[in-house]
Amino acid sequence: MTSLPNQTKRKLGLVIDLDTCVGCQACVTNCKEWNTGGHMAPLTDTNPYQAEVDGVWFNRVHTYEVSTPEGESRTLHFPRSCLHCEDAACVTVCPTGASYKRTSDGIVLVDEDKCIGCKLCSWACPYGAREYDVFEGVMKKCTLCVDRIYNKNLDKEDRVPACVLTCPTGARHFGDLGDPRSSISKLVSARSGQDLMPEMGYVPTNKYLPQREKTASLSLATHHATARLQPLEDTAGATGLLKWVDNALEKSG
Ligand code: SF4
Ligand code: SF4
Repeated sequence: MTSLPNQTKRKLGLVIDLDTCVGCQACVTNCKEWNTGGHMAPLTDTNPYQAEVDGVWFNRVHTYEVSTPEGESRTLHFPRSCLHCEDAACVTVCPTGASYKRTSDGIVLVDEDKCIGCKLCSWACPYGAREYDVFEGVMKKCTLCVDRIYNKNLDKEDRVPACVLTCPTGARHFGDLGDPRSSISKLVSARSGQDLMPEMGYVPTNKYLPQREKTASLSLATHHATARLQPLEDTAGATGLLKWVDNALEKSG
């Protein structure tokens, strides 16, 4: 099994604003575009023009219809990718050392040359963030665009993950969450950013900013299903919509 660093020099990650995400999928598309030619290339597709489209996507955006007890309806867009956890079970479960967390910046990566495709990491990840490439027989995942953010061939303002660069509403933010003086840390503090499923104990680096309207008493249903999901009353830390997202992730996991 693979060990994690005791601590990392930086904690690079994303902050995703659920209040301003409009579910346009621009981040999903630009992520696929950049990474298919980049560090983990190619990101394959299966049946791209058929009804059952699938393939390797590091970033997925799920859309839910939300109904309030008052009978009002609203939409929640929930972007999902690797959260670069501090206590990443996907790393510790890996039998070959293929999955690892970098001491320099905290990014969790996969060394494809060491990966044997056993999928233990995808079973260990509670967020469904691992992507198995059926053609190459190896596991892939979000790299935080490690081949962009240090790339001196790019203009400085472009040295951010592709998803952050392309988001038309500025709902995605990138930076060092280990530095309380960073603009991203101040944003988390100002907007009460939250962890996803903190009770799992994986200490995700990425944070979500909750929608700004009153959400604590919402009762929600997915746009697919008629069944209503009750918020988890005993989920530590998460509240409102995030609590419901935790519930939805657990049910789909
Ligand atoms: Fe690993 Fe999943 Fe955490 Fe990413 S979100 S570091 S894949 S456990
Ligand atoms: Fe490690 Fe690859 Fe197995 Fe995942 S699938 S646990 S990265 S060897």
